[in-house]
Amino acid sequence: ATERKSLVAGNWKLNGSSALVNEMNQALNACDFKDTQVVVCVPSVYLGQFSASSFDVGAQDVSSHESGAYTGEVSADMLAECGAKWVIVGHSERRTYHAESNAVVAQKAQRALEAGLIPIVCFGEEESIRDSGDYVEHCVKQVAVVVEHLGIERFAQCVLAYEPVWAIGTGKTASPEQAQEVHQKVREFIAQKSAEVADGMRILYGGSVKADNASELFSQPDVDGGLIGGASLKADDFKAICQSA
Ligand code: PEP
Repeated sequence: ATERKSLVAGNWKLNGSSALVNEMNQALNACDFKDTQVVVCVPSVYLGQFSASSFDVGAQDVSSHESGAYTGEVSADMLAECGAKWVIVGHSERRTYHAESNAVVAQKAQRALEAGLIPIVCFGEEESIRDSGDYVEHCVKQVAVVVEHLGIERFAQCVLAYEPVWAIGTGKTASPEQAQEVHQKVREFIAQKSAEVADGMRILYGGSVKADNASELFSQPDVDGGLIGGASLKADDFKAICQSA
């Protein structure tokens, strides 16, 4: 889509092993992804085991705190020190299972930026909201909280990912038109703050992207790449998706 550099990010979720790290290192480093940026977001304990040259590594979550008595949490500085360049924030699984509010997601994006990480800020509606017809308002609200918290200049350093909850891990992909509609509306919302930021903002689509539906989704004018769950665990599938961006 337009001048924006395409980006494909894998999300391993709670999957993987040292063996998979080695397999991906080999498989992905052997590829020339040309103008597409490739990121693999892994459980943070594996960050240091990558020797990525053709791609970047990222984490899947970050603490909203800098340091202190927060047992089990990992800070943005720690992730950066272990080699992460990117971090997913506000994935629907974090919002659902860990009750992350829009405000917490915005705080996490801020922590990531302070540590020099690029936040991939996820948003998207549940199926009931899609059915109610209010999905654009819902998505714009999720993004708006982050814009308000960071201010438009810092927000410009983020990447967005539209992930309709009903499409994540379900095999039910949004149609290219459904994805395009939300991406365009969110970009229009950002343009009300800054046309330049809206124009440069990369908005990924996520939700059951596979090797055989990726290129149609990625060819939509406001879809700048993808966030890939299940299909990022198989080197051949993930490579094929990266090559269709
Ligand atoms: C995700 O976890 O962000 C995701 C989109 O998962 P899947 O591709 O498996 O639907």
